[in-house]
Amino acid sequence: MSELMVALVQASEKAANIARSCRQDETLFSLLIEEKKSDKNKKFSADFKTLADVLVQEVIKHDIGKRFPGLENNIFGEETNEFMNGLGERIQVMLCERDADTARLLSKVLDGNMQAAEALASAAHQDVIIPDLQTGSVHIPIHNLGVWVDPIDSTLQYIKGISNSVPEGSIYSRGLQCVTVLIGAYDLQTGEPLMGVINQPFAEMDDSKRWQGRFFWGISAGPLSVNSLSSTPLTRGDSTHPLPTPNPVADPSLGVRGSKLSTVLSTREVKRVKALFQDCCEGGVYYASGAGYKALCVILGLVDVYVFTEDSTYKWDSCGPHALLRSMGGGMADLKDCLRHSPAGGAEERPELQYNTPIAEASGTEKWANRDGLVAYRSKADLEAVLQLLTTVEL
Ligand SMILES: [Mg+2]
Repeated sequence: MSELMVALVQASEKAANIARSCRQDETLFSLLIEEKKSDKNKKFSADFKTLADVLVQEVIKHDIGKRFPGLENNIFGEETNEFMNGLGERIQVMLCERDADTARLLSKVLDGNMQAAEALASAAHQDVIIPDLQTGSVHIPIHNLGVWVDPIDSTLQYIKGISNSVPEGSIYSRGLQCVTVLIGAYDLQTGEPLMGVINQPFAEMDDSKRWQGRFFWGISAGPLSVNSLSSTPLTRGDSTHPLPTPNPVADPSLGVRGSKLSTVLSTREVKRVKALFQDCCEGGVYYASGAGYKALCVILGLVDVYVFTEDSTYKWDSCGPHALLRSMGGGMADLKDCLRHSPAGGAEERPELQYNTPIAEASGTEKWANRDGLVAYRSKADLEAVLQLLTTVEL
């Protein structure tokens, strides 16, 4: 069994617990939704949202570093752990050894709100037990790994907190279901994604109106490919939203217009791309929030592909889902790179997203943008169908 995979899943579960606590604990929830009510506390509540992000990221670093000393130095994400409170003090958010100390530290960021600080610290220190993952025996040298973390993907949906969103074809265009915790481990030398977790903290609401989550993991390292989709049930006792069977793989010989290709797009996708897919995808075009959630829709077989032609996803959004897709024989292609180097017969290996090289001419977080867009797919034939289609528009 891969100890690292277990640690990544455990960290994602803890992150999911914190994300749920902030919505279910009354004290924390009131801070989270303050932003909606008035401008007066706007800065403070915006900070609270970031604090949840930062704390989750630090918990993941702390827990993984404890199990695999040294690896914490190669864990990356969007957030830094430095925080400015209402008094203008700079505070480094981190997980202390004792939860009372973590609470004290957090209370400084929360301008003395000890009740909220204690609730957050308690979620951050709670032990998480997960079932045996049955990964089989995996040996990946730890010293050659980097980890990308997105503590709360689709923060906007997290803050909005819509809990009664109605799915279309089992796909939620918005709502808490679109929120995911994403963790991906990659090879520092080659930039290939090797292990991934997608945790969906708000997958379904139980009878007592409490959110239940679920997680998916995958490993794709050398000849080994294993994931949770083949070994565990997809949902925890949910009979109200049965998962549809995946569409048959598109046959490129039929041409795209004849295929049953289905796709999920971002609402931010450019108009002509939306129109093109609306026109050509007989299998349906869906819209959803969150890069992690859209990739999950492909992984679960709810759609064939997730296409995004813009540059506003980042390595932390794609690394975990990408590893999962690879473990099922799919991947995440570098969209515009594929289109630039279109091979004649489409038989060559297509360029995939990589995780170890920043964009030299960019600065700040933009260094880690997937600037050429992406296609998340389970089958290479579907990828080819998408590329063929996109050669007909100007991107
Ligand atoms: Mg994100």
